[in-house]
Amino acid sequence: MKNLSRDTTSPILTEEDKTFDLTLRPKTWQDYIGQEKIKKNIQIIIEAAKKRGESCCEHLLFYGNSGLGKTTLSYLVAKELGANIRQIAGPAIEKVGDLAAILTNLNEGDVLFIDELHRLNRLIEEFTYPALEDFKLNLVLGKGPMARTMEMKLPRFTLIGATTRLALLSAPLRNRFGATFQLDFYKQEDIEKIIQRSSHLLKLEIEPGAIELLAKCSRFTPRVANRLLKRARDFAQVEGQGIITANFARKALEFLEIDGLGLEIGDRKILEAIIKKFEGGPAGLQAISVSAGEEEDAVLDIYEPYLMQLGFIERTPRGRVATRSAYQHLGISFKNNQRLLS
Ligand code: ADP
Repeated sequence: MKNLSRDTTSPILTEEDKTFDLTLRPKTWQDYIGQEKIKKNIQIIIEAAKKRGESCCEHLLFYGNSGLGKTTLSYLVAKELGANIRQIAGPAIEKVGDLAAILTNLNEGDVLFIDELHRLNRLIEEFTYPALEDFKLNLVLGKGPMARTMEMKLPRFTLIGATTRLALLSAPLRNRFGATFQLDFYKQEDIEKIIQRSSHLLKLEIEPGAIELLAKCSRFTPRVANRLLKRARDFAQVEGQGIITANFARKALEFLEIDGLGLEIGDRKILEAIIKKFEGGPAGLQAISVSAGEEEDAVLDIYEPYLMQLGFIERTPRGRVATRSAYQHLGISFKNNQRLLS
């Protein structure tokens, strides 16, 4: 059976998502809600670069879960710099030639946004080093003894890298960024503001109780909040007069099998695997993924960060352990694994 709740957390964007994201994507700093420290720091970096009369700023690295606003932030940086932005995903750069084509097509001052930077091929990565440091590209022409290197001058540009897995980036690549920012889960009040803003943009009438409920179940992630709003809207339009009441919000959440803390089926399967199959843990990532029937990447990128944020899972040197709160949430009596958490 299709896991419907997974559609709300998935980092994969459907065509509908893309249109939705574009409609709702904040276009000004004022509209970009929360993450105040990051916004302030970026604005200072840009302001300083402008004062120095530079056409671009330091390369910036954004990391954090999918849907927290990394792409949106990158577009805001480009706008603030008055620059064009070119977006590409790390795995789409398959050959050195692809990289060369992208870089040589940039104009002075452009922003290059590489999403999923941790999936950039390691061989290609090495070619980015001189491009990032000195705005030049060293291309090897020919093979064997006849091979020679050609140096190409590039326009000055700002690279913005985004990743969900900072640890997978090599140290040399990481070191080439002037500043690194971690995007955190949002506060309840910020998500409420985001839902309010999205409702306004979509011309939806929504009751405060519905906003509060959807925000609470949004995994404190803007994209998830917007997807939940969309589902609640469907219920309100089909079963009611179009006004999103708390009741319709609750119906949408029930339909998606999302519980009061925003946990979906995948989260519960993971917790149950640790608790029931591994007696609360510690259990390794691979074992948990197999038992829960989820891909390791999904466990690492989607489920675990939120379960850790809720304090339901702890990582120990020997593996993942379910905490007392996780047992309580699932209504399972707590087993004797406290010693592993101390
Ligand atoms: P990421 O690149 O981290 O996966 P995005 O930048 O694509 O996330 O954000 C997903 C969607 O969430 C955006 O289209 C936007 O509608 C919404 N969003 C993200 N961050 C914010 C924010 N700070 N304020 C308002 N909406 C946001």
